[in-house]
Amino acid sequence: MKIIMLGAPGAGKGTQAKMIAEKYGIPHISTGDIFRANIKQGTPLGMEAKGFMDKGQLVPDILTVKILLDRVSDDDCKNGYVLDGFPRTIPQAEVLENALNEMGDKVDFAIDVDVPDENIVRRMGGRRACVTCGATYHIEHVPPKKEGICDKCGSELILRDDDKPETVKNRLAVYHEQTSPLKDFYNKKGILKTVDGTRDMMEVFGAITDILG
Ligand code: ADP
Ligand code: AMP
Repeated sequence: MKIIMLGAPGAGKGTQAKMIAEKYGIPHISTGDIFRANIKQGTPLGMEAKGFMDKGQLVPDILTVKILLDRVSDDDCKNGYVLDGFPRTIPQAEVLENALNEMGDKVDFAIDVDVPDENIVRRMGGRRACVTCGATYHIEHVPPKKEGICDKCGSELILRDDDKPETVKNRLAVYHEQTSPLKDFYNKKGILKTVDGTRDMMEVFGAITDILG
């Protein structure tokens, strides 16, 4: 099963994608996590991506598409995957579609986690991410057991640089301009499914599993 998560930054794509990956036994692939791992390791890709990410802009397609195609060609992707944060532009979606076409394959579901902009700014301000394992929390909705410490690995939790309010505004503008047209793209292919992302995260997950079966 090949699943794409759509939705504004902070809509809950990562939260849901991790639960989907666990339930269906497929890898969760986040291009944002791949970039952040590269930044942490100080790779050339990471250094190039950081400049765009810190401003709330998209990393250019040419870089993003390559890392994604490399990742989905790994062995663990044979039975499918859930993509979180990719595609974010129409050209990215077309590259993925062509690559899958060549293998006689296709995306099965594009799930749009729908959350209005007003809720997004509040959610991002409360998001805390683990510097080591990438687990995410929310200071009100999903607090860690011990403040500032990751439940899973004991590392420090931080507010991501790009989750600061000024950057969130840019990211939302970029989302509306470049990413939200993907809803129409997948709707025309008959695979777009929209869930109300303002509900409690387990209710959102229930709506998604009803769709995936
Ligand atoms: P995305 O991957 O779309 O950027 P995340 O999954 O990281 O978004 O979620 C953004 C923030 O909102 C996180 O702090 C997360 O814990 C919180 N969150 C996710 N889903 C919900 C929900 N249904 N209700 C409230 N908070 C949520
Ligand atoms: P995310 O963790 O998905 O919120 O992504 C964080 C940031 O990484 C984004 O704001 C972009 O700068 C960059 N990024 C992640 N995925 C992509 C993508 N598919 N295309 C372009 N930039 C991306």
